[in-house]
Formats: sequence, structure tokens, C-alpha cells
Amino acid sequence: KKQDIIPILKGIIESFKNYATENKQTIYITHSSNQIYIDTDRDIFEKMIINLISNAIKYSKSTGDIHITVKEYKHSVSISVADSGIGIAPADIDNIFKRYYQVDRKRSVSGTGIGLAIVNEFIELHNGNVTVQSTPGKGSVFELSFPLVEDSVKSNTNIVPYALNKQEPIDPNK
Ligand code: ATP
Ligand code: MG
Repeated sequence: KKQDIIPILKGIIESFKNYATENKQTIYITHSSNQIYIDTDRDIFEKMIINLISNAIKYSKSTGDIHITVKEYKHSVSISVADSGIGIAPADIDNIFKRYYQVDRKRSVSGTGIGLAIVNEFIELHNGNVTVQSTPGKGSVFELSFPLVEDSVKSNTNIVPYALNKQEPIDPNK
């Protein structure tokens, strides 16, 4: 199912409004165009994004803004969620996508360590991937990469109709 993701993302951000303003954090979204499509199930897509945003809020000790960036590449669409929170040590990076793994159980912020395992399973279902870049004490960037949906309008622009008997190519816009 082709989903127009920018309005969906804005709706999710809206739903975090109270939570984030209580924490004095602002969630920003930047996108390379207004209509960006992903082949996904809306509920599943929302669950992935909500998990990443709630982690960004939870692990940034109520300070620092959150930046969501959506970019289209030639063969993929990337959605990143960046925070300026506590960060993740290199030794933990490989483990955080495992079920029930939490870096610091004792300091335990709420949760069961399942969020990123779910994100990882869902992105695999999409034939996409998730990556993380993080610096302890500085923050983290989680990036989801989805295969690009073939947009029928875009792909048609390469097909230029041409009539052999005429002097000029047919203008495809007429
Ligand atoms: P749950 O998502 O089930 O409520 P959780 O947030 O602890 O619990 P995950 O979302 O799977 O579980 O994250 C696993 C661990 O990875 C977290 O416990 C935390 O230590 C670390 N982590 C995840 N996101 C971030 C982040 N944005 N900044 C710093 N650490 C993070
Ligand atoms: Mg979580």
C-alpha cells in the first residue's frame, strides 16, 4: 500500500506535542518534497516512527530538540530521527536491536527493551534497513531506509512518444 508519509509524520509529531512541550523539547521535521511515498502499512509505519521518537525523548533527559529528516534518494527514502541525548557507547550499538536489551537497566527509565527489536523486524519486512550513529554524551541518529516506490508519474517522464511520420516529436504534455 502506497502511503503519503509527510502528513502521517506530521500527525505523529502532533500526537507528541504535549509530551514534548512538557519536556521543553521541540520536534522538527524537514523533508525534501511534500509528497513522498513508501510502500507500507500505516499502523506498522507509525509504530516504527513512534518507537524512535519516544526513545529520542526518553533518552535525552528532557533537553534538546528532536529533528526528523526525510530525504529521497535515487533508490530509497530515508527517515532519520536525531536527538541530542545521552548517546550509546560503541560496545552497546550491536545489542540495542535485540529483544529486551537495555543499556542501563538499573538507571531504568521505563520500558522493556522491545521497541528497537520491533523497529528492526518491521524494517526487514520492508526490505529496508535501520542504521544508528551515536556519540555518548552528544546524541544519536537513527535512520530508516525504505526502498523507493516506483511513482507512475515520475517513471512516465522518461517515455517520450514519437511518431515516425511527423517532423517533430509529439509533445507529451498536449
Ligand atoms: P521499550 O522501547 O520497550 O519501551 P526501551 O526504550 O528500553 O524500552 P528499545 O527502544 O528497544 O527499548 O531500546 C533499547 C535500548 O537502547 C534502550 O534501553 C537504551 O539503552 C538504548 N537506546 C535506544 N534509543 C536510544 C536513544 N535515542 N538514545 C540513547 N539510547 C538509546
Ligand atoms: Mg524504546
